[in-house]
Formats: sequence, structure tokens, C-alpha cells
Amino acid sequence: MKNRKILIFVLTFVLVISTTVMPAFGAFYTVQSGDVLWEIAERYGVTIDEIVDFNEIEDRNLIFPGQKLEIPDNLTSDVEGPDLDVVTPMPDDLVDEEVMISIVHTNDTHGRIVEDGYAGNIGFAKIATLIENKRAENPNTLVLDAGDALHGQTIAQLNEGESVVKIFNEIGYDAMTAGNHDFNYGKERLLELSEMAEFPILAANIYADSYENFLPEYVIKEVGGVKVGIFGLATPETKFKSHPKNTEGLEFFDSVIIAKLMVAELENQVDVVVALSHLGMDQSSTERSDLIAEYVDGIDLIVDGHSHTVLEEGMMVGDTMIVQAGEYDKFLGVVDMVVEGSNVKSITPSLIPQEEGIAVEPHSGVTEIIEEVQEENNLITEEVVVSSDIKLEGSREFVRTGETNLGNLITDAMVDFTGADLALTNGGGIRASIEAGEITVGDVITVLPFGNYVVTIDVTGAELLEALEHGYSAYPESLGAFPHISGMNVVIDPDQEVGSRVVEVTVDGEELDPEATYSLATNDFLAAGGDDYTMFGDNEITALYPGLDEILIEYIKEYGTEGSPVEGRIQTIDEVSYLSLNLVA
Ligand SMILES: [Zn+2]
Repeated sequence: MKNRKILIFVLTFVLVISTTVMPAFGAFYTVQSGDVLWEIAERYGVTIDEIVDFNEIEDRNLIFPGQKLEIPDNLTSDVEGPDLDVVTPMPDDLVDEEVMISIVHTNDTHGRIVEDGYAGNIGFAKIATLIENKRAENPNTLVLDAGDALHGQTIAQLNEGESVVKIFNEIGYDAMTAGNHDFNYGKERLLELSEMAEFPILAANIYADSYENFLPEYVIKEVGGVKVGIFGLATPETKFKSHPKNTEGLEFFDSVIIAKLMVAELENQVDVVVALSHLGMDQSSTERSDLIAEYVDGIDLIVDGHSHTVLEEGMMVGDTMIVQAGEYDKFLGVVDMVVEGSNVKSITPSLIPQEEGIAVEPHSGVTEIIEEVQEENNLITEEVVVSSDIKLEGSREFVRTGETNLGNLITDAMVDFTGADLALTNGGGIRASIEAGEITVGDVITVLPFGNYVVTIDVTGAELLEALEHGYSAYPESLGAFPHISGMNVVIDPDQEVGSRVVEVTVDGEELDPEATYSLATNDFLAAGGDDYTMFGDNEITALYPGLDEILIEYIKEYGTEGSPVEGRIQTIDEVSYLSLNLVA
């Protein structure tokens, strides 16, 4: 209340000043924070309708600070200027003024800091400009991120998320919530990053030892006299959608119950309640933002992430609006909200698409940070991981048509790191060879540049066979889906029809059992059905691991490069009979 009184005083002062200096009529009035139309009309002795018509205002509830209104010079042309006695508003009138606040939001940017027109990323240099423009249009603007920002691309990973925090600081984010991938550097690192951040990283439902909150539960922001309570919700899937060791000792509490507690705590302190959630809306998730909206009263807006859902106009569930802006900063989300007292009168969500986003000038401060980080990263990518006597074969014509030592090395590293029975990765994801000599971090990133994660899924022998049939369907022609494998041996007969070319699969020397379940390490792209591995699309991910590049670096540091030669993991039936003929001879 105290703040509101101060605000009323300030507003009154602003009104008095602005009314004293403005001419009586036929002039422009610049809308001030907290202004409403009836008051402006009363001050000039005209009606609201006259101002609305004259300025072609579409929605009389939507005037914004900085907007220029032309005042029609009619009825009161003999008046010198507005009467100050009349214009000084009574505090009671001001309490229930309509104010428009705006909330700009991002989610699941996964380290996509740099603009990439081809991939569709706007990039944060231009996101920053878009936000600056929004603030110029409406100074009552909050900026939120719904998680999974700190990891996913080299530019973020080489400094363990610090670059993203620096950029968010520069842009002036007001709050962020902890996504599952924000734990990828470990929980201690997330705490360090939250120290560096000039905004809170929120999660009301994560508890550490003795039921202490691991991160702050909520923050209260005041914009345009409106108090906005923002609480964070993290997904319990973090337990397996980040390496399990990253959340050791943490408990994720039921998000519906926690959301109810948060609303109870906040509702008497604030005018607007916002849940900043990384729960998502995938029906396979047991805790979801739509369930929060359905079961928890009193939340005005859920700014959501995790499911990478594009909600062009938001989604209303009960009395709660849910917004989410897709993925990889392909969109910037904007919510305009008209608030009167503690009532939200209207919420209008929209998305700024990539085409519109990249049309603006890049923000100089953010551009500078990106350039600095890239320079620092260059120093890191020059770091030598190991020295190698052999060339690792990763060129396109080989990795999409047959077994190579680099394909074997990558899949062996996948099995080693995850402890899975088998590994399979697509040749199309291997982008370069590494020459003999010193291997740098940069060399490995050049081989595996997509920032794909290693995941494990459970597959039946029958599903695996179907996957292999698909992967070897084009042989000997080149195919991005061509599978490199570890933990199994495959014999193919390219003379057979597509779909019946895999004539033998052995796992640990034993024939593949179509009924048995195997744990398979693959990359997140294939697990999601990428490269037409549709047979994997429905298999639940049992665990999520670091990037392919990170796993390969760890592996060659420990074991070198020579333990995975071409050894007949993938053979044609002719090669097998040639070998057995030779053995006989
Ligand atoms: Zn996520």
C-alpha cells in the first residue's frame, strides 16, 4: 500500500506538470504512465468518444505511455488551459486505473545465442533490440525466460552457461526458471550461474536437504504500479532428462500442490500472479502446465517452456492464459495485459516470428558480448585433447555408406558413458574427418557440430531390426540415416528387397532376440524419430546424457583413438562368405 501511495503522489505530480505545460486544444498530449482516457477527456473538457474517434483508437482500454493523442479542439475552445483543481485526481480514483503491462518471454533457446537464418534462430542480439523496442512502446514491460537457456551449443557450453547469463543480464531479464537442461553442468554450477545472474532463477518445487528451497520460489516485480508475483516451476523430468548425477540430493515436489501454495502466499501481496514454468504440455508428461491451469485457481498467466510448443495466440485453460514461444528463439513471445486494480481485464498474447525478428538491427551491447565469448571460445577450441597416430574417417562418402573407425569410436564412447547394451548413431551426424596428429576440442566439435545429446531408450529386438533395415535400406548408396553401431554385428544382403536386407544381427555373439528388450544409446535426434527412425519416436527416453562431442572428448582423453578400428561390425553377405572361404582355404 505504501508504494501505491507514493505512486499516486508521483502520478498526481506528473499529471499536474503535464497539464500545466500543455496547450488547451488542437494539440497533442503524450500519455503518461497510469493515464486513462476518461481522465484525459475530462481534463480537456471533451468526451472519451471524441478522443477515440479523433485518434482512431481501436480499443479504448489500450492506450500506452508515450502514445501521442491529438485533442479535438471543439467544445471548450474558450478555455485557456485545464483547470488544475479539476485535474488533480483523487487518490481513490487512481487506485483502480487501468494500466497496460507487457511480458516478453523466451523459452527453450538451448544456447541458440547466435542468429542463424537457416535454422530459424533470431539470435539474442536482435531479441535484445526487439525487447528494447517493446520497452519504448510500453515501459511497463517485464522480460522472462521459461528455462532451457544455458546449454545446447558450443558458445554456451564452453563457458558452462556463463555467456547466456551475461547476455540475459545485458538485456535485463527479470526472472528465469530452471529448465532440465539448465542442470546439465551440475546443480552446483547452476547455483554459481544464479549468483552471476542479475535476475533470480526460480523454482518453487525443488527442495534440497532438510526441505530447504534449492532456488528462490518467487519474485515480486512492480511495473506501472502493478505488482506482479512470479513463481517458478521446474519439471520433475529433470531427474532423467539431465544426467541423474546433476540432481542428486534434490527432490521435485508435486507442481500442482506447490502452485496452490504459491498462489496462497502471493495473492494478498500482488495484483497479478504469473507461473514461470518449465513443465510443458506434452501429454506424455505427468506434470504439465495445462494441468496447473486446470487444478490451481488464481494464476493469471503461465509462461511455459519444455514442450517446445508454438502457441501463436496463447491457450486459455479455465481462467488462466498459457503462453509458450516454441524453441530456439525462432519466436519472441509478447503478452499485453490490461490490469485494473487487482483485476486482469484482458490478456493478449502474440509471437514475433523469425522473419520479423531478424529485420531489426542487432543490439550493440549484446553483439559485443557475443564477439568476446567467441574469442574466448576460440582459445578453448584450440585446446589439445589427445595426440593420435591415425586418421579418423568421417568424410561424407564413407560415413553414409559404411563402417568407419570414427563411427565406431563415437558409438563405443556412447556405450562406455551410458552403460547401455548397444549404441547407434547416424552417419549424417558425423560431419568431418580428423587427421592424424593433435586433436583439439574444436576438431571434435567440427565432427559433431549439432549439439545433439546422447540418450538411452529401451527397444525390443524387433524394433532394433526395423531400425537397422531402415538404416541400411539405401546401401550401397549414401544415406544420412546410415547407422554406426556398437555392441552388435550386422550382416546385410543388398540384393534383397528393402525391408529384408538385414540377414543377421548378433549381440555379444548371440543372435538378436526379437522379443527381448535392449537398452540402446542413440542421439536425441534419432530418438525423436529423426532421419525417419520413426520406430524410435514412441519409445520413452530412459536417461539423458551430455552432448555427443562432450562424450567423445571424455572417451578419447581416457582411451585414445585406436581402440575402435574397422572390424566388420557392418558387413555385406559377400564379405562374410569371402572371409569364411579364406578361412577354409
Ligand atoms: Zn526442457
